[in-house]
Amino acid sequence: MSETLLRDTVFKVLLSQSATRMDFWAHGMHVNAGGYGMVSYYIWNGIIRVRLARRAGQMTAGAEAEYQKDERTIMLPRDPYGVDAKERGAIVHECTHALRHVLFSSPYSKEGGPRHDSNMLGQLHFDNEAVAYIAGSLYHLYETKKDWADLSPVIREANVIARTLEGKVGATVDEGAFATLRLIVSQTPPHDSTALLSTPDDETWK
Ligand SMILES: [Zn+2]
Repeated sequence: MSETLLRDTVFKVLLSQSATRMDFWAHGMHVNAGGYGMVSYYIWNGIIRVRLARRAGQMTAGAEAEYQKDERTIMLPRDPYGVDAKERGAIVHECTHALRHVLFSSPYSKEGGPRHDSNMLGQLHFDNEAVAYIAGSLYHLYETKKDWADLSPVIREANVIARTLEGKVGATVDEGAFATLRLIVSQTPPHDSTALLSTPDDETWK
């Protein structure tokens, strides 16, 4: 039952006005309401699951939330979740991973699944992380009109980029700023709970 409620929370976040306002490009990756709508659709029909981590080990230690792509599952740490803008920003972060995964992974492509208008070739794990942090910060900015208050360098840098995107439709993140954020993400310890990192890997996201 609680997972049903968590799923409803994810729907509310993805279909919120703040998520709907998001529309930007970063390093060839497009993040917008249409993508989040697709994620909602995939959650609704069970292709992506939303689960509550009930035991240690179901999520990477220290992770705030996690998208586990092998299971196509968004893991959330407690119930209720999404009670404040930070938690909802973490949901947006994980759903951005899901967006990148669902719309671009080869199994979906082979099945004639949905395609999107941005390029996935050559994009690495840390590219994917960086865009997820930008999305979380921009969502938080729209929700609260304030930066995501966090002392971690990753969030601080993502906030700076989010400010450049605020109120714009289809804006492109400066490549230099993106590279800086990606570098900071790559240097952040994977179990830093304030950084909301998912399990790192060096898989090329295709
Ligand atoms: Zn992540």
